[in-house]
Amino acid sequence: MDYCKYHPMDGATYYCRQCDIHHCDCCINDEKNKRHTVHCFLCDSVLESLGSANTVTPFWRRLNEAFKYPLNSSSMSLIVITSIISVIAVLMPFLWILSIVMYLFAAGAMLKYSFTCLERTAMGEMKAPDVMEAYQGGIKLLFQLILITIVMTVFAGLATYFVGVALGGVLGVIAVITFPAVLIRFAQTENMFSALNPVAAIGLITAIGLPYGLLIVFMLIMMTSVGVLHEWINAILPAGAVFVQSVVSSFYTVVMFHLMGYMLFQYQQELGYSARSDDDDEQPDRSDLERMSANMDVLLKEGEYEKLVGLYYQAFKQFPNEANFFDRFFELLYVCKKQALMADYGLTYLEFLVRKKRFDKLTTTFKQINLLVPDYVPDSPAIRVQIATFLRQQGDLKLAVKILNGMHKLYPDYADLPNAYTLLAECLNDLPNMQAQAEKCRQMAAQLARRAEAKKVELEMQRQARQATGAVPASTGNPKVRRGPPAGTSSGLTLELVPLDAPVVDKI
Ligand SMILES: [Zn+2]
Ligand SMILES: [Zn+2]
Repeated sequence: MDYCKYHPMDGATYYCRQCDIHHCDCCINDEKNKRHTVHCFLCDSVLESLGSANTVTPFWRRLNEAFKYPLNSSSMSLIVITSIISVIAVLMPFLWILSIVMYLFAAGAMLKYSFTCLERTAMGEMKAPDVMEAYQGGIKLLFQLILITIVMTVFAGLATYFVGVALGGVLGVIAVITFPAVLIRFAQTENMFSALNPVAAIGLITAIGLPYGLLIVFMLIMMTSVGVLHEWINAILPAGAVFVQSVVSSFYTVVMFHLMGYMLFQYQQELGYSARSDDDDEQPDRSDLERMSANMDVLLKEGEYEKLVGLYYQAFKQFPNEANFFDRFFELLYVCKKQALMADYGLTYLEFLVRKKRFDKLTTTFKQINLLVPDYVPDSPAIRVQIATFLRQQGDLKLAVKILNGMHKLYPDYADLPNAYTLLAECLNDLPNMQAQAEKCRQMAAQLARRAEAKKVELEMQRQARQATGAVPASTGNPKVRRGPPAGTSSGLTLELVPLDAPVVDKI
């Protein structure tokens, strides 16, 4: 049995010849295409389907475990106690009604427990259930189980009686052969009538195929061995024979029911498929998002970082609101210490946090980026102001000053520049020995505000002039106005403010 390379606990369902890699259902590119093929995330070649038979070890490969299945104190106590009850029932033929009741009680208890084993195994539980737990299902199921057994026995008996021994024998054999199928169907549907439906039973047998035949052979061997064992012991100790036979057959019954449950577990897809085949569409398609996420997992586990980074950037474009992608990529870069990529991605992530109003993470993220990329400052005036505001609230004035400083040179056209400098002035004001710098900053803010005002007026006048003349020289006039004022009005301040961050860093 092969397992998924990326999920070592899951059986493989696909195989890539090109990469020599086994995949599970999760690790494949199942994007809809014209040829309805499934592709490899790594090399994009068509994958070979392995079928679900591969996902579970076949039952004959785990007979060892199957025989150990009832070997626990809980199951064994039940087996021994019911066997003792059967022996007592056999030993008192004078009270025959009581003895029949006791016998039925023992058999019923054993049958109910075995059936619980079947159901639990079918759900993938490979440990025998606790005896007390097994009787929570209620008495109705037990009666249905007994009824099923009686119906099948009576059917074979009546056939022998009415149509003769030969044909009756054949029908009896058929009854024995279909009995496990009926029980598996009953566990599957919990409906007595649909379980007893011979067509459904035959459908189940053909769906499982050869392994079902093996199960029957196995069952017959066990039954014969119980008979042989009985013969042996009966010759030595007649009373003990009943006990030993009862213990052994109960033990075998639990093993058989466990195996039947295992068969249901192993062939769940095939068995479920026959019921679902009419509406194939019912199987939910993976969304692009889930598929992309699976693709990322595969690329990450393969160490295909280049492809992975490309895929993440594609994901950011395709799913701009999917926090999972943004967070994971940030974590990845941070943990893997990818400096260059982080310097590139930092702004995207900070902008995402602001867009999603996750302000609580803003400063910690900024500091994390700084740990990896020293002197990192996001290349966006709005984000800088946003982070600086929070840094100031948290009392981290030094860092706030660092990211606000020099913004008038870098972003001369940023509309909120006056506010940025007011903020910078406030930060400097709270720092020791920085009052003079703060005062300069305040002046700068005032000057920038005036300049912005003047620009607004000028633009307004231009607009009016354009309206008056008929909208011609819009593009030629604008740049000149923008570049003009700094040369005249704020040149003195520009020079003094730029080297400001050096003394700040030294003094703190
Ligand atoms: Zn997988
Ligand atoms: Zn491949």
